[in-house]
Formats: sequence, structure tokens, C-alpha cells
Amino acid sequence: MERRQPVSAIGSVVKLIQEFNKLPGIGIKTAQRLAFHLIRMPSEDSSSLANAIIEMKNSIETCTMCQNITDFSPCNICNNPSRNNKTICVVEEPLDVLAIERTGSYFGLYHVLNGCISPTNGIGPDELTIKLLLERLRLSSEKANGNIEEIILATNSNLEGEATSMYLQQLMQPLGYKITRIARGLPTGAELEYADETTIAKAMEGRYTL
Ligand code: ZN
Repeated sequence: MERRQPVSAIGSVVKLIQEFNKLPGIGIKTAQRLAFHLIRMPSEDSSSLANAIIEMKNSIETCTMCQNITDFSPCNICNNPSRNNKTICVVEEPLDVLAIERTGSYFGLYHVLNGCISPTNGIGPDELTIKLLLERLRLSSEKANGNIEEIILATNSNLEGEATSMYLQQLMQPLGYKITRIARGLPTGAELEYADETTIAKAMEGRYTL
């Protein structure tokens, strides 16, 4: 049933509430609170917020190598000559890259899958960036000094993350790569992006060969 708005509601405010309500974790009450906070905000602050969103959407792109979001491609991780280009850490989301980078203990490259295999949500391997990962491996194997030695599977330790990791292992192990999985320092079901630095660093350090 369509939610009825009070007759006195101002169209533009209702629209803003609806837009906030589409964001993850924002219920209708919070959406209303945010909208009314913006009404009371000085114009320059609300303009600066609106501009930040527009600017971000206009400038952001996907790194052609790791598929992470970036201001320019290749991103500053792929493009950094001091990173270890023999190791690729495969993660589900850009936020996982941030979480691992925060530990300051990983110096290899990344590959962002943009999700995980989840049949219940209709997401299969083709919806992820797996083909691009395989292509990346193929291209690097053709370079004189670009051979990848280790692929770290750092998908979440929930059901979908484990299934994705297993799928990737079966796909890439026959190609001769050393495939490792991050340790289970993370509690089962935990998502990488919410774990603290020490837990992630320990999980990376304790990774084991599959
Ligand atoms: Zn990149």
C-alpha cells in the first residue's frame, strides 16, 4: 500500500525524505530527521553537501585493473611501483580494500569482485568481476616480470563469502597459482569491513594455502 503523506507536507521535503529512505540503514524516521536537519542547516552547508555528492558521482570511476572505485585509473594502489605486484588480494567490496589498507600490513595488490555469489539474491559468478580477474592474470603472465605468485581470497567468512572463495579456488587452482584463504580470526559470519585492524591483520598473517 502506498504510504500517504500528510496534506500539508511540502513536496520537496517529501522527495528528500524518500531519497534518504532509499539509502542503506536509513529508515523513514531517520530520513525525516535528516531532512529536517537540512532544512535548518545554513544554505552554504547544504549546497556544499549537494555539490560533494554531484562532484563524487562525476569524478569517480572504476580502476581498469583492480575494479576498485577511484578518482583516476589505474588507481594509486595499482599504479604504485613499491607495491608487491606478485600478490593479489581478492575482496568483495571497495570498503574491504579500505579496511585492509587501514592495517598498514599488506603491500600487495587487490581485486574487487563487487559482491559475492549469492543465488538467493540472483547473483552468479557472471555478475561479479571474475572474468576481469582471469583476464588480468592472463595479461600479467605474459609480462616478463609480472607473474602473479599468490592470490589471497579475502571474501567474508559468511555463507556467501565462503561459497565465493570456494568457487574462485576451483577456478584458479588448476591454473597453477598459489591460492590462500585468510585465517578465521574473523568470527564466522563477520564482514571484513566492520572488523578492527588487529583482527584483519591477524587474519591476513594467518592465511593458509588451499
Ligand atoms: Zn586499481
